Amino acid sequence: MPLIPGVIKMIKTDEVRIKIAIQKSGRLTEHSIELLTRCGLTYSRGRDQLICYGENMPVDILLVRDDDIPGLVQENICDLGIVGGNIIEELRLELIKKGTKRLFNVLERLNYGHCRLSFGIPENVEYIGAKTLKGKKIATTYPLIVEDYLKKQNVNATVVEFSGAVEIAPSLGKADLICDLVSSGATMKAHGLFEADTILESTATLIQSPEALSKTKKDWIKLLLQRIRGVLQVKESKYIMLHAPREALQEIRRLLPGSEAPTIIPLEGFKDKVAVHAVCRENVFWETLEELKEAGASSMLVLPVEKMLA
Ligand code: ATP
Ligand code: ZN
Repeated sequence: MPLIPGVIKMIKTDEVRIKIAIQKSGRLTEHSIELLTRCGLTYSRGRDQLICYGENMPVDILLVRDDDIPGLVQENICDLGIVGGNIIEELRLELIKKGTKRLFNVLERLNYGHCRLSFGIPENVEYIGAKTLKGKKIATTYPLIVEDYLKKQNVNATVVEFSGAVEIAPSLGKADLICDLVSSGATMKAHGLFEADTILESTATLIQSPEALSKTKKDWIKLLLQRIRGVLQVKESKYIMLHAPREALQEIRRLLPGSEAPTIIPLEGFKDKVAVHAVCRENVFWETLEELKEAGASSMLVLPVEKMLA
């Protein structure tokens, strides 16, 4: 793994700060920065553009290529990292193959960077499950994940590693089919391939170094993780206020998505009507409001939740 000079310098000069590696430029960058910012972290960017120094917490952000992140964390060069589950799984299988016991710890799956690793088959080939793959040449960036899947399916096939533009392998005659990351499916379609079985569902994931941490670092990571979980919860959560006839309360509570104990408040001047305030842990869609109205609710107001701490 290439060691970045700035990283080595930082590690030597400051042992008590937490280093978190995130993707420098790509699909996960903006969301990862946004997550840390929403956790309350303010930072200034170093002159080399590789490190962001935390100003209000001892947390520094390292901007690196996503492929380097699990290695940096596993080697304890960084304490934490945010990277796609696909890259984590490929390295996990590599470490197992090498017999390494020190794996990184997965702390939390995050709610962005959703994608799946699926087979892409030329449109003129009939797909009848994993046995279709028998004796075929499969191009992929994730050879170990694919080999692991083939082994579990008891299918013999040849896996060829491609580092990029996997989808062109069949038309170049380099492979019969591919196994690649998909989110919308448009790229496969544009290359005359259809999406067959998915072998891995992936999201951005927070990982931690396997090394024992000092008490100070442990405490900061605990706090950061608590805030991250708060941010994740809040994303979908809504605060809902409405008026309801007392006799419809049971039905209205049933309709509120993911709410535990709503607050019921008497309404001045109304004996048979109450106000209901509730935090819904899932998004509240128009359809839900329409059903609530049908059940007798009125004066409904849905507000976003800014912060949440259980
Ligand atoms: P880097 O320059 O850091 O190596 P990259 O080109 O390898 O970047 P990106 O294409 O930015 O990586 O993807 C980063 C991660 O985003 C992937 O590893 C995956 O977890 C996730 N992802 C989400 N949707 C997709 C998709 N449609 N295709 C590829 N990756 C996706
Ligand atoms: Zn990459």
